[in-house]
Amino acid sequence: LERTLAIIKPDALQDADEIRRIIKASGFSIIAQRQIHLATEQAGDFYAEHYGKMFFTNLMSFMSGGPIIAIVLGKKNAIEDWRKLMGPTNPMDARERFPDSIRALFGKDQTQNSVHGSDSVASAAREIRFFFPQMIL
Ligand code: ATP
Ligand code: MG
Repeated sequence: LERTLAIIKPDALQDADEIRRIIKASGFSIIAQRQIHLATEQAGDFYAEHYGKMFFTNLMSFMSGGPIIAIVLGKKNAIEDWRKLMGPTNPMDARERFPDSIRALFGKDQTQNSVHGSDSVASAAREIRFFFPQMIL
């Protein structure tokens, strides 16, 4: 059973129940979850790979602008399947190409795109440890 880290971002907190319903209906199990309000610096640490990019400052203030829900998802092929269920980064693109995806349904724009998902086995391990340091992987 593969694990991945999902985040319901601040712009979609009011849609959390509906998003979790879709997650479960798509065959994922919710192994752990935690609501947290990140400090700006913590948001920067989480997204360190994007340091220096044009949107980095925006991304940090968005991700620390309200509470988020970090969720450990379990499923066979969880990493790839969760990214597929999220849809493309840009919700406009998602609505055109994958209208049933979560970002198509709940995303607002390129930054406020409702959810996050780990993009590899290595980042899933790092990101799960970031929010659930006590969890055994
Ligand atoms: P995530 O990492 O959240 O799953 P992603 O992998 O599809 O999304 P990344 O390229 O890793 O996208 O970017 C991380 C996040 O930074 C995006 O989800 C989005 O919130 C924001 N972002 C990405 N590209 C842009 C951009 N060009 N302009 C503004 N914000 C962006
Ligand atoms: Mg990414």
